[in-house]
Amino acid sequence: MEMNICIVEDEQSLAELIHMNMELEGYTVRLLTTGKEAMDLAPQMNQFNLVILDVMLPDFSGLEICEEIRKHSDVPILFLSAKGTTEDKIAGLKRGANDYLSKPFDLEELLLRVHNLTKLFQPETSTKSTLLTIAGKRIDFQTYEVRQLSDNVLIATLSKKEVELLRLFAEREGQVVSRDEILDSIWGTDQFPTSRTIDNYILVFRKLFETDPRNPSYFHSIRAVGYKFTRG
Ligand code: CA
Repeated sequence: MEMNICIVEDEQSLAELIHMNMELEGYTVRLLTTGKEAMDLAPQMNQFNLVILDVMLPDFSGLEICEEIRKHSDVPILFLSAKGTTEDKIAGLKRGANDYLSKPFDLEELLLRVHNLTKLFQPETSTKSTLLTIAGKRIDFQTYEVRQLSDNVLIATLSKKEVELLRLFAEREGQVVSRDEILDSIWGTDQFPTSRTIDNYILVFRKLFETDPRNPSYFHSIRAVGYKFTRG
């Protein structure tokens, strides 16, 4: 199975050293050298098995990037930092990092930690996604199950139509999807539901994923048009 690692590191020689050694170990590496690139990619970090994140970057701090990634994903994060004090480690772990390594570090130790961390997480593949994470809950499009990410407890089992509609929203994340489009792609030539039916699906989703279903963060109603799905 292919293992994908994202490395965010601005020191070129160190970045290249890690990059080369990861590739020798068989990992596929995506190297980012600025905090901006990492912030932009934060919503898509689910595609990786691990993010190795430098704390001291010239534009954004690794801590900020870590917070941004955690809004979207539970991908393992390993901090690399020249700041090796206990307080710094705690600050990193408090922001949701899984592990912390002080520079300079032993390459073998890094590889061992990487090996352990990459086993923790199953990434979503960007091409044919079968898993979707919303509000700390993971939807499996193949089993229709919704599970709590933290402890894998089963919360709900969705219907086929609910899964199809969620998949449509995920594919069109951030865009307005009209009622007509929803009817077309989910119901097609099947017996046509009323608009009320779609509303009922949205109610189910809000009940499952929203903290306050009357003030939704994920499933937004776009008046007179349809719906928009966003994840932060
Ligand atoms: Ca740095």
